[in-house]
Amino acid sequence: MKTVYLDNNATTRVAPEVIEEMLPYFGEYYGNPSSMHSFGGQVGKRIRESREKAAALLGAHPDEILFTSCGTESDNTAIRSALTALPSKRHLVTSRVEHPAVRALGAQLATEGYRITEVPVDGEGRLDMEYYRRSLTPDTAIVSLMWANNETGVIFPVERAAEMARSKGILFHTDAVQAVGKIPIDMSRNSIDMLALSGHKLHAPKGIGILYVRRGTKFYPFMIGGHQEKGRRGGTENTPSIIALGKACELALVKLEEENTRVARLRDRLENEILARIPNSRVNGDRSNRLPNTTNISFEFVEGESILLMMNEHGICASSGSACTSGSLQPSHVLRAMGVPFTMAHGSIRFSLSVYTTDEEIDFVIEKLPPIIESLRSMSPYWKTATGSCTVDSYAS
Ligand code: PLP
Repeated sequence: MKTVYLDNNATTRVAPEVIEEMLPYFGEYYGNPSSMHSFGGQVGKRIRESREKAAALLGAHPDEILFTSCGTESDNTAIRSALTALPSKRHLVTSRVEHPAVRALGAQLATEGYRITEVPVDGEGRLDMEYYRRSLTPDTAIVSLMWANNETGVIFPVERAAEMARSKGILFHTDAVQAVGKIPIDMSRNSIDMLALSGHKLHAPKGIGILYVRRGTKFYPFMIGGHQEKGRRGGTENTPSIIALGKACELALVKLEEENTRVARLRDRLENEILARIPNSRVNGDRSNRLPNTTNISFEFVEGESILLMMNEHGICASSGSACTSGSLQPSHVLRAMGVPFTMAHGSIRFSLSVYTTDEEIDFVIEKLPPIIESLRSMSPYWKTATGSCTVDSYAS
């Protein structure tokens, strides 16, 4: 069975060009980049090139690129570093819809005596800028706001938010894990101090990330050890993955505009057809300001997990916004923060496309999804009640 992979915000396929670039660094050029001999030195040269390629994608200077193990490490490092740099300040500002890489750290920091403000969003997932402005205080050390949301794709005005923070002497970090490679980012034209990205969302392997740290920003390492990364992160470099990420950044820069226009066209077609063919469905998130590859759609009166399971039988991979991972049966914190009604939030599905998504795959989903929803609804007492075909009581009996 063919797999139609529309779960690219979870992880992406490693690009064949990227695999080709990294493979020789396992078996052939396996030297340690810190070694004095030329066998290791040649690897060090390739790491420098990767740093330059990543810097080019971000409009940054290569010195501002720090290789890490993942987006989570980058987020944690940025926030912990800022709090260490400004020990007299005990306040962190973030949002209600951040990824756990930031949100769970916020919860941990609260237990360590820090004050955390989570800025709310409106029904479309847009940041409440007035609330944000009011939450910046003399005690605020750092703001951490995501550039784009992983569940809805909604883009936050992080450049404007960073300006506001800087005018008050507050450091600004952005989790750009979902944004990099999908929308243009130019760090030479904004006041963001730190930015996190992750290789596996960008067609590089898992286990590699970047923390951008603006020149002049006081920085305290998270991992202390050897002098690697100019003393900013101890540990022998993950050479093959660093080289892979450099290549992925190079490809993203070349393809960014053209490919993302194509991906957005496919996403819009998928979304419009679903809305037209399936009653009681709706898009969650600001449709006018989203990542080009993401759509989050709710199907009223159906369980997201059941939809995922039935799509899976046809080889279609997506994500549910109502994952009951905690067993609490609560919809995702993002949809709850947006105030999406319960009956809608429970049946939400995130489709996330990539540069590898084809027209045929979108046609396939458009054909398969309506009967799936119809058959699930035919079994749903809530749907029957809502459409008047029976009552919950009569179903229960
Ligand atoms: N931030 C966002 C917005 C994400 O979507 C993810 C991964 O899903 C992360 C951070 C964590 O990245 P990683 O898996 O590289 O730790």
